[in-house]
Amino acid sequence: MRVRVLGSAAGGGFPQWNCPCPNCSALRNGTLKARPRTQTQVIFSPGSKVWFLLCASPDLRQQVLGARELAPSVDTSSPPPIGGVFLPSADVDSVMGLLHLREFQSFFVFATRGVQCVLQQENRIFRVLERSNPPVKWQMLSSKGRLGCHLSEDSSEPADFICSTVPLGGCYPDYVSEETLRAVPPEDASIGFVMEQGEKRFFFAPSLPGSSGMWKSAAESADVTLIDGTFWSDEELMRTGRSRKTAREIGHLPLSGSGGLLEQFPEKAVGRKILIHINNTNPILDENSAEHRVVLDAGFEIAYDGMEFEL
Ligand SMILES: [Zn+2]
Repeated sequence: MRVRVLGSAAGGGFPQWNCPCPNCSALRNGTLKARPRTQTQVIFSPGSKVWFLLCASPDLRQQVLGARELAPSVDTSSPPPIGGVFLPSADVDSVMGLLHLREFQSFFVFATRGVQCVLQQENRIFRVLERSNPPVKWQMLSSKGRLGCHLSEDSSEPADFICSTVPLGGCYPDYVSEETLRAVPPEDASIGFVMEQGEKRFFFAPSLPGSSGMWKSAAESADVTLIDGTFWSDEELMRTGRSRKTAREIGHLPLSGSGGLLEQFPEKAVGRKILIHINNTNPILDENSAEHRVVLDAGFEIAYDGMEFEL
């Protein structure tokens, strides 16, 4: 499997257009040792020329244009490079990019019933995807299941890769109506993905509320884990004046502090552990900061736009 990080920041990107926090201001002034980042987007290929998107970022158009692998072939008989999209949640950051893919192209969209309900029934704008012929193909994911994925039409062949889903225990986004919330399964709100091919496993959980511990066994057995590095501390948004809510209240386990990700990440995990979905307020973005050093010393890597690896 080949994996590429096209975007590594949380919602708003880095810098964020309206944010005067110390990180964003110093990045604009050129006084911060840090890389700018677009909003979280990962692509992976199970070994052919077909790629799958994990999330559909608000920056997707720019990200697709920047990725040579995703350019359509001039040979119109070859399959389109984007085979499908896996949606971990209905968060704006995870789904807005679907609207960039509306140009009369069919592909698969893998999502739980709850997320599909939010997108298809409550948010009619996503029906633009159905204008393609054939229309976009919505595939149902259980919040805790295993799905064999085939690149060819012939599903009697062994699967090209297996997608296992891990319920992460989050909430639906605050734009979802009370009526829809009553109709959708809570466990469908936020899931992680384990993409498996042969002996190799890659775990993707960009949004980790920490209210369920099921992510730990996935992280333990993965060769590479790309996991929620949104906030350094629980009070980070309050301290920078960006919100009155804590990191945990908006569904992100912070990295530091008691019960934080650095403390909870399973010690037995032997694979690479990479932080992604990093908010612009997070001090780990500053490569000269003590917090940056702490996460590296704890054995974590920090994702950046353009990072790639092969499993
Ligand atoms: Zn900022």
